[in-house]
Amino acid sequence: MRNILYRIRTTLARFFYGRYGVDKLGYAILIVSMILSLASSFCAVASPRVSLILYVISYGLLIWMLFRMLSKNRAARANENAKFLGFWKGIKKWFKLQYNRIKDIRTHRYFACPNCKNNLRVPKGRGEITITCPVCKTKFDRKT
Ligand SMILES: [Zn+2]
Repeated sequence: MRNILYRIRTTLARFFYGRYGVDKLGYAILIVSMILSLASSFCAVASPRVSLILYVISYGLLIWMLFRMLSKNRAARANENAKFLGFWKGIKKWFKLQYNRIKDIRTHRYFACPNCKNNLRVPKGRGEITITCPVCKTKFDRKT
C-alpha cells in the first residue's frame, strides 16, 4: 500500500515537474469562468441559447487555465501574466481616478494633459487658468 502511494506521488511529481502552475492570470481566468458559469445557469430558462454560449465560453476558459498550468513553456506563460498585470493595473488606475473625481467633485476639477494624457487635478472656481503639466511641462488654458 505504501509502495503504491509512493509510486503515485513520484509519478505526479514527475508529471508536474517543470510545468508552469498557477499565477494571477490563472486565478483571473478561473474567476471569470466561474462567473460565466453562474450566469449561464441563471439564464438557462429565460434564454437557453445565451446560456449555452456562456457555458461553452466558461469551459473554454477552464481549458485555457489548465493548458497554462500544465504548460512547459514557462517564459511564454510568464509573459502573458506580465501583460495581464499591466492591463489590470490600468483598470485599477482608471477606477481610482473615477473615485477621486467623484470624491473631489465640489473642490477640484480633473483635466487630461493634451500632450502626455497625464491626469491633472486643479482647484475649482479660479476662472480661466494656465495649467502646467508636472510631467511634460506643457502649458494649456482651461476654465475651472
Ligand atoms: Zn503632460
